[in-house]
Order: sequence, then C-alpha cells, then structure tokens
Amino acid sequence: MSEPIVIIGSGLAGYTAAREFRKLDAETPLLIVSSDHGGFYSKPTLSNALATGKTPATIITANAEKMAEQLKATVRSHHRVAAIDPENKAVALEGGETLSYRQLVLALGADPIRLPLEGNAVDEILSVNDLDDYQRLRDALEGKKRVAILGGGLIGCEFANDLVVAGYQASVIDISHRPLGRLLPPAGGAFLQRKLEAAGVTFYLGEATERVERIGDSVHLTLASGKTIEADLVLSAVGLRPRTAIAKAAGIHVNRGIAVNRSLQTHHPDIYALGDCAEVEGRVLPFVMPIMHAARGLATTLAQAPTLIKYPAMPVLVKTPGCPTIVSPPETTAQGEWIIEEDETGLRALFKSPHGGLLGFALMGSSTRERAALSAQLPAIME
Ligand SMILES: Cc1cc2nc3c(=O)[nH]c(=O)nc-3n(C[C@H](O)[C@H](O)[C@H](O)COP(=O)(O)OP(=O)(O)OC[C@H]3O[C@@H](n4cnc5c(N)ncnc54)[C@H](O)[C@@H]3O)c2cc1C
Repeated sequence: MSEPIVIIGSGLAGYTAAREFRKLDAETPLLIVSSDHGGFYSKPTLSNALATGKTPATIITANAEKMAEQLKATVRSHHRVAAIDPENKAVALEGGETLSYRQLVLALGADPIRLPLEGNAVDEILSVNDLDDYQRLRDALEGKKRVAILGGGLIGCEFANDLVVAGYQASVIDISHRPLGRLLPPAGGAFLQRKLEAAGVTFYLGEATERVERIGDSVHLTLASGKTIEADLVLSAVGLRPRTAIAKAAGIHVNRGIAVNRSLQTHHPDIYALGDCAEVEGRVLPFVMPIMHAARGLATTLAQAPTLIKYPAMPVLVKTPGCPTIVSPPETTAQGEWIIEEDETGLRALFKSPHGGLLGFALMGSSTRERAALSAQLPAIME
C-alpha cells in the first residue's frame, strides 16, 4: 500500500481538507492525527452556546469513529505529533511511534495568547478555543455569577453577549477605547458598545489589566488606572497565536504563521499548511470562510495539480444578538474614508476609496440586511 497523506489536526481545517480531498480521490490512504478527541464540531458555536444551553456532547456532530468512516480515513485521536522529519518524510508521535507520509498537511490551529499579568490567580484564567475549554468554562460557571472578560474583540464581545443572555454578569476590559477596535470604525465600536451595554454588559475601555488576585471566593482584577473589578472568574479573549513550534523545529519557514505560498505549500514541496496555523502570502486569516476556500484549493493540489487558492471578500458575522454585526474591514493600507449613516436601529459604515469604490464595510442592526448587495461590490482578497 502507498504511503498515506497525513493530516495533523482534526479541526475545521484538517477535516474540511480531508472531505474535499475525498471528493476528488477515493483511494489514496488518509491518516488524520489529532491531539484532541477527533470529533467534528463547529468551533464558532462555542461563543454562542451558553445561552442556548448547548453542552459539548450536543455540539459534536460526529465522533472520531464516524469521521473515519465518512472520510474513509484512519483517525488517530489523542495522539500528539512531537516532531516532523522532512528528510525522511515522517512524523514522530509523542511516545516514539513514527508515521511515514506521502504528503503532509499541517492543520494545527492556534493557541490563545496569555497576557503577562501578575497575581496569584493568573493560572485560574480561562480561555475558550476548543471543546474541552468550553467544558472547563461550564464547570467553572457552576454556581457563579460574575465573569470578567479580558479583551473586547470578536470573541470577547460574543462571550459577553452570550453570558448576559444566559443570566450571568459580564464585564469586558480592553486597552482600546472601543470594542472590536480592529474591525470596526470608531462609530461602529460605539454603536456596538451602546447596544451591548443595553443588553447588560459592562465595559472598562482604555484600561489595561495588571493584576489578578484571588481573595476568598472572589477574583480581584486591578487595572492600570487603579480601578478594581471583582468577579467570580476571568475569561481571557485577547487573541490567538498560530501553532508553529513543530514546523519551526523541523526547519520549515515560519513568520507569524507557518509560511505557505498560494498553493498552501511550505518551502518543503511535500508539506502544506492551512487554517489558523498558516500564513498565506503574509496573511493569517483565522476564520471559517478562508478555511473552506483553502481546503478546496488544497484538495485539488493534492489530488490533481498545483492550484492557486482564491479568496473572495469574506465578511465576518459577529455573533452578538444584542447587536447583529457584519464586517469586512478594509486593508490596513487602504486609502479612503468611512462614510457613516446611523440611527437608533442600525449603523451603515462604508469605506470608500478616493475614486468611490467600496473597500470595506460594517453593517450593524437593521443595516445587516444590505449584506449580500454590498458584499458583491467588495474587491477580492486574493484573485
Ligand atoms: C470561540 C470562537 C468563536 C469563533 N467564531 C467564529 C465565527 O463566528 N466566524 C468565523 O469565521 N470564525 C470564528 N472563529 C474562528 C474559527 O472557529 C477558526 O478559524 C477555525 O475553527 C480554526 O480551525 P483549525 O482547524 O485551523 O484549528 P483548530 O480547530 O484549533 O484545530 C487544530 C487541530 O490541531 C490539533 N493539533 C494541534 N497540535 C497538534 C499536534 N502537535 N499533534 C496532533 N494534533 C495537533 C488539535 O488537537 C486540533 O484538532 C471562532 C473561534 C473561536 C475560538
């Protein structure tokens, strides 16, 4: 039997690449190695699951055995790859077992960033980046009420909204002066803040957390301004860092993520990367839509011939029911200005070039119904 294509990671990237590959090639052996349970689930659900009472068991849609059957693949769950040996086209598992590959796909995901904080409760800070983390959050919330969230970006705001709908108190602390500061223009951030405050979220903006101290049953957060916040538990949502360590140790080029070209190939011809761990021509895009496009392109490359992936505009839906939001931020280098229309029900922010072309948008509340029409006008991210 020929050597398999080995995919490391059973998240959206690994499993979607496998599924797309199987549509084109039913025979080549596929081996998926994952340090987690190997079940398939929609990770975006995790920041919307408390209010609807979802548990890890109801979030998983297929377990590892079912995925193996569907994909005609071998799934080695609870096995961590310790090292890659590009010379010998093999990976070493923790424990010493070695697996040879014909081609290797890195779909390793990303790790939550931890802020450099002081205090005796730093190790108690939770973050939710997978199903096991979500179970830990559910366990920690048992009998508790007050949650302090570090970070007012997409995931922090989604959890804050979900927590208040589920009956908890949520405080969001962020160094920037508006929530979703990297995605929304200031007026959009202010709109989101007002709507989430109306839903019950408390914001501490322009504030840096310095210390996290457990005192009896409470955790006390000390901010740089001297303010203190009392909470029952702390959830960190300050961003993700691509998992690059095993690639780097193997001599594979790594920048912010594992560096790949538009065929998702590293500088080793038989090693590819996609998803949250990958950097495609300088871009790390840790979202669902880029993964779907990348997986389709990679499948064609692996099954047929090298194929350049294409990214159309991919607006991101922010899952804050208190303020439905869809955003497609302009490139950081884009020339132009925001044109903003706002009333109590919604906000429509269009980023226009000096020639009048639409380069980005933020649609909030009632304006979200314009999503399809405006998305069609956006330029592609990679053509
Ligand atoms: C709470 C939350 C909400 C989100 N909401 C949205 C949203 O609304 N819209 C959107 O577009 N995106 C959203 N995202 C982002 C999106 O979910 C991710 O971009 C996507 O799920 C990443 O998939 P992945 O397969 O690259 O990584 P992961 O799902 O993290 O998978 C990585 C896999 O690699 C395995 N692995 C890692 N290292 C090893 C090793 N050494 N050996 C073996 N296995 C290993 C892990 O066990 C895991 O199976 C959200 C993310 C979070 C955390």
